[in-house]
Amino acid sequence: SSLARVKILILMSDTGGGHRASAEALKTAFEQQFGSMCEIVIKDFWVQLAGFPFRNFPQQYATLAKYPWMWKFLYNLTKIRIARGFNDFVFELFAYQNVRDFFEEFRPDLVISVHPLVQQLTKEILLCFEEESKVMHVPFITVVTDYGGAHPTWFHRGVDLCYVPSEPVKAVAFEEGMRSEQVRMFGLPVRPAFWEETRSVAAIRAHLGLDTHAQTVLIVGGGDGVGGLQAVATAVAQRVAASGAGSVANGALPKAPAPAASSTLVQIVVICGKNKLLAAELRKLKVGVPMHVLEFVNNMHEWMRASDLIITKAGPGTIAEALICGLPVLLSSYLPGQEEGNVHFVLENKIGAYSDEPDEIASIVVQWLSDPVELALWRERVKTFGRPLATKEIVQDAWEFCMVKLQDRMKQIANLRVEQQKRRAE
Ligand code: UDP
Repeated sequence: SSLARVKILILMSDTGGGHRASAEALKTAFEQQFGSMCEIVIKDFWVQLAGFPFRNFPQQYATLAKYPWMWKFLYNLTKIRIARGFNDFVFELFAYQNVRDFFEEFRPDLVISVHPLVQQLTKEILLCFEEESKVMHVPFITVVTDYGGAHPTWFHRGVDLCYVPSEPVKAVAFEEGMRSEQVRMFGLPVRPAFWEETRSVAAIRAHLGLDTHAQTVLIVGGGDGVGGLQAVATAVAQRVAASGAGSVANGALPKAPAPAASSTLVQIVVICGKNKLLAAELRKLKVGVPMHVLEFVNNMHEWMRASDLIITKAGPGTIAEALICGLPVLLSSYLPGQEEGNVHFVLENKIGAYSDEPDEIASIVVQWLSDPVELALWRERVKTFGRPLATKEIVQDAWEFCMVKLQDRMKQIANLRVEQQKRRAE
């Protein structure tokens, strides 16, 4: 058609893995639902747009996440308005022009942020454009990707819409002065593969090279592989081996004939994300249980579907995904402030447990696995907390909103053209 495609800009940053996963989820859903009508670009705000000195922001975040006390200090400090003002000042001083240059070039029709630290600068630039009447109002939308609570910087009163995934986050939005017509709730955006899977568990396990019959324990630590994974994986493997559920090959089982398709009863999968060092260390371990150690994977949905339960730090993305896959969630750590609410959410709704003691975690795992019938019932209940359609709903809603605004803009543009023509004719 002669109509130009709607240009959608999604702003994220690789602090952790959750923001990218949400950005990709939204992009794919837009493509699936409105593919021929839009062009979607994802940008890492700090690495790709802001430039020096923010290029290393994601690495700094990964470092910070290893020192929870420092994290907590900064998290709480930036809750104070004055500190935030300072932050904004620094961002503006260094990043404003770079980001603005990109906006000038790309000219988005809709901007979506899935990161708590990009609203202020983005809004300023969009307002500036409007004032200089370079472009008409460009809808700006925030999609909050925290679950049990959220940092105040997520909420900018100047956005057109703000999607929140849960009641606790909605409450923070209102505390921060958002208006009710700005705030909408569907769930956390999760990549389509999580809602599209139709294969059986056995088929997925076979595809992944796993034992098709063994109970499967998944251990992850967010995109950065944090949260003491090594100690947890070791403790769980040792306890499983001691319980006699490890591999036949290493003699942990009595000589009973193994089931035809299976040589093990329990297998462990550890996904280390971007933490290569951890993966290398874990691969050296000699445990009495089959342990599959992976670095960053792009098929988390398959690993989750293949598993019976998950051990993870309290990352919002991972929790939301696990619920869709019906995995009871055993939380092994959390980032103070940011992820505390997620722990409450899991405990209050009885969809999992929390312990930061590797030995205790291992006991809980063995206990959960000991009654497969009970576990299966529980998994069905956990699934009822999943919101597999959230991404589709957000995208549908945002598109409709954007279209109304675009139509307004088209009318304005048409009027402008008529005026220009008139002027030329005079
Ligand atoms: N993830 C992934 N591959 C990996 C490790 C993590 O795709 O190897 C994804 C995971 O599925 C989730 C996100 O990274 O969507 C992690 O987000 P979460 O909010 O749990 O934690 P964060 O890393 O953002 O702190």
